[in-house]
Amino acid sequence: MRSATRDLSVVIPVYNEEASLPKFFERLYPVLERSGGSYEVVFVDDGSQDRSAALLRQVFESHPWVTRVILFQSNFGQHAAILAGFEYARGRRVITLDADLQNPPEEIPRLLEAMDQGHDYVGTIRRTRHDHLWRRAASRVMNRVRERITRVHMTDQGCMLRAYDRAVVDAINQCEEIHTFIPALAYLFAARPTEIEVDHDERTAGQSKYSLYKLIRLNFDLVTGFSVVPLQFFSLLGISLALSAGILVLYLAIQRIFFGPQVEGVFTLFGIVFFLIGVLLFGIGLLGEYVGRIYQQVQKRPRYLVGAVLEKPEAGA
Ligand code: UDP
Ligand code: MG
Repeated sequence: MRSATRDLSVVIPVYNEEASLPKFFERLYPVLERSGGSYEVVFVDDGSQDRSAALLRQVFESHPWVTRVILFQSNFGQHAAILAGFEYARGRRVITLDADLQNPPEEIPRLLEAMDQGHDYVGTIRRTRHDHLWRRAASRVMNRVRERITRVHMTDQGCMLRAYDRAVVDAINQCEEIHTFIPALAYLFAARPTEIEVDHDERTAGQSKYSLYKLIRLNFDLVTGFSVVPLQFFSLLGISLALSAGILVLYLAIQRIFFGPQVEGVFTLFGIVFFLIGVLLFGIGLLGEYVGRIYQQVQKRPRYLVGAVLEKPEAGA
C-alpha cells in the first residue's frame, strides 16, 4: 500500500481523446494550482490508438513533478484504468474525472469543500445533463432497479466526477474483482458519503466510447456485482410458476377424466409454454452472468497490463 505524500491526486482515464486533451490540460492545471495544497495528476492511457499517449508524454515533460502517466498495453476499459490510477495515486484524497471535458475541472474545489466537511466520499449529480433522451431514460430505469436490489444508493450513477478519501481508495485497491463499478464499491466502503450537484457539459470533441452494448454490460456488472437478488428472484419465480403449472395440469387431468379429450385451448397452452420457455432462457442467461463472473474470477488474470509509467522519483522515497 502506498503512503499518501500529496494532498490530492486527480485520476483521469484516457482513451482516444486527442481532440479534447490540449483544452483539458489548459483548464485542469490552473484549477489545481489555485486550489492550494500539493497535488498530482495521474493520467491512465487505456491503450489509445490516436495521439493521446504522445500528448500525455508532452504534458508529463512540461509538468514533470505533478504528473504521473500510466500507459496500458491495450484497451482494458475505463474502470480498469481508474483502478490502475488508484494503485498509483499517492494523494490523501483522490478525485476522478473524464478527459473529455464533460466534467468541468472547475468543479474540483467544490468536491474538496464537501470533503472538508468530513465526508469520505463525494458523489455527484449532473445538474444539466447533456446526453441523448434515450440515454437519460435508460439511466433512469437502471437507477430504479439498482436502488431496489442493491445496497448502493446513488442518485446519478453515470457521472465519474467524484472524490474519495484515502481510506476508501485503499479499500477499493484491496478488491480483486475483475469487472466492477468503482463508485458503487466506494459506496460500500464509505462511512460518510454525500452527493453534490455539478455541471455537465456536452462532449465538444471526439465521440463517446460507450455503445449501447457496453452500457448494458456495465449495468450487468453493477447489478450482478453487487446483488444476488436476481438469482433469488428466479428461485421464487420458479416456485410460483411450478405451483401454477401443477394446478393447470391437475385441472387438465380432471377435465380429461370427466369430460373427455378436448383440443380447444391448445393455443392457450402453447402461449403458456412459450412464456415459460422465455422465463427459463432468461433464467439460464442470468445464471450465466454469475457463472461467467466466477469463471473470470478464478482465472485470476491481471485486470490490466501496464506498458510504461512516466513519473519522477518520489521526494524522500
Ligand atoms: N475511457 C477509457 N477507456 C474506455 C472507454 C472510455 O479510459 O474503454 C475514458 C474516456 O477517455 C473518458 C472516460 O473514460 O475520459 C469516459 O468515456 P466517454 O466520455 O466516452 O463516456 P460517456 O461520457 O459517453 O459516458
Ligand atoms: Mg464523456
